[in-house]
Amino acid sequence: MAENNLMEKIVSLCKRRGFIYPGSEIYGGLKGTWDYGPLGAELKFNIKQEWWKTMVREREDVVGASASILMNPKVWEASGHTAGFTDPLIECRICHERVRADQEDVIKEHEKIHKGKADWTEAKKFNLLVEAKIGVVEGEKNSVYLRGEITQGVHVNFKNILNSSRLKIPFGVAQIGKAFRNEITPGNFTYRSIEFEQMELQYYVKPEEKESMRQYEFWKNMRLDWYKSLGIKTENLRLREHKKDELAHYAKAAWDIEYNAPFGWKECEGLHHRGDWDLSRHQEFSGQDMSYFDEETKEKYIPWVIETSGGVDRAALFFLIDAYEEEKDRIILKLSPKIAPYKVAVFPLLANKPQLVEVAGKIYNDLRKDFVTAWDDRGNIGKRYYSQDEIGTPFCITVDFDSLEKRDVTVRHRDTTKQERVKIDELKSFLEEKLK
Ligand code: ATP
Repeated sequence: MAENNLMEKIVSLCKRRGFIYPGSEIYGGLKGTWDYGPLGAELKFNIKQEWWKTMVREREDVVGASASILMNPKVWEASGHTAGFTDPLIECRICHERVRADQEDVIKEHEKIHKGKADWTEAKKFNLLVEAKIGVVEGEKNSVYLRGEITQGVHVNFKNILNSSRLKIPFGVAQIGKAFRNEITPGNFTYRSIEFEQMELQYYVKPEEKESMRQYEFWKNMRLDWYKSLGIKTENLRLREHKKDELAHYAKAAWDIEYNAPFGWKECEGLHHRGDWDLSRHQEFSGQDMSYFDEETKEKYIPWVIETSGGVDRAALFFLIDAYEEEKDRIILKLSPKIAPYKVAVFPLLANKPQLVEVAGKIYNDLRKDFVTAWDDRGNIGKRYYSQDEIGTPFCITVDFDSLEKRDVTVRHRDTTKQERVKIDELKSFLEEKLK
């Protein structure tokens, strides 16, 4: 499949089936914003839930947090964002379009418009923070920023979390939430948006080279495995180390998890060893003590931080791309059942046979209590199967005439199209087993 073609197909499927729509579409849209429909909302919810399960619930050493989007502007001075959260911007002198100077593909695409003769200005720094105004007196409103990353909401609460829990280093604080960036060239569908969600772990460790690198390696591999465990093909994932000139001046190490997208290998998640940058800067700017006291060794220190920072929207997009397959007469989204929007669909074989509708309806209502379940009684069964394949539903249940006597149903598997009979009473445990 041609690569552009694949993206067009994904975008079209997302719109048609209710995964993702252009933001504020009826008003002509707003560049770089996207709205998730019924299936997209389920997919995103499932991704976040799986992340939270792995990163928080299953771990003794990680707790959750949920900080405000709006923060005191001093936070962004301390973190270095006010001065340094910039991308290089160049402007085409012919048509005044502005693009990011480090995005070769976007530049090439633009130069095609002017038949290879675009005339670019020198690159200048462009700050990505999105400003907002708060306050009730017109003319006296205060400028604040919509957070450019969710990270700082955790670091400014380091002491609060420490004092209100019994955590001991090493420990982590996980958070999921919206971030905003005035991206110069949003694009590639949801890949680069101006509003997006991040899922991050800030893991605090002893300020020791060896121990911190051991932790760093652990999280690097753990995060890569997470994407694989949810079905992304191994050959479509890679770890890439940042080059010297990409590294933030305080970073001790930085790698990206990249996905082999139709528009190139692209960052999906950043894995950063941030040293003591965040806490020591907040200590300096706030005047508050941000150190940790180790009761056992009686040492006092500012911990170092290992960060794993992924985008929920990028993950959703890459899961969709990776799962997309076409067979002779059907499109299938081979999503992991764990993140598929619907886990199961229930059909009466014929919509005009009340006994079938009644039994199917009862199964549907029972299963809905435990699984996100779809109902379909339109058209022929083959079409209903294909319709569910296209949105990634792993199992379809059909109630037919035999079901009335034998109290069993046909369960059809999305990927193999194989069918098996399962007792109605055993459907719940059957699905629980398959969705583990
Ligand atoms: P890029 O180099 O692509 O601009 P970045 O290195 O600035 O990304 P980080 O600051 O490390 O990104 O952000 C962590 C994660 O947040 C990224 O790996 C990505 O998944 C997500 N993310 C960042 N910017 C965007 C965006 N504009 N749209 C969607 N997701 C984003």
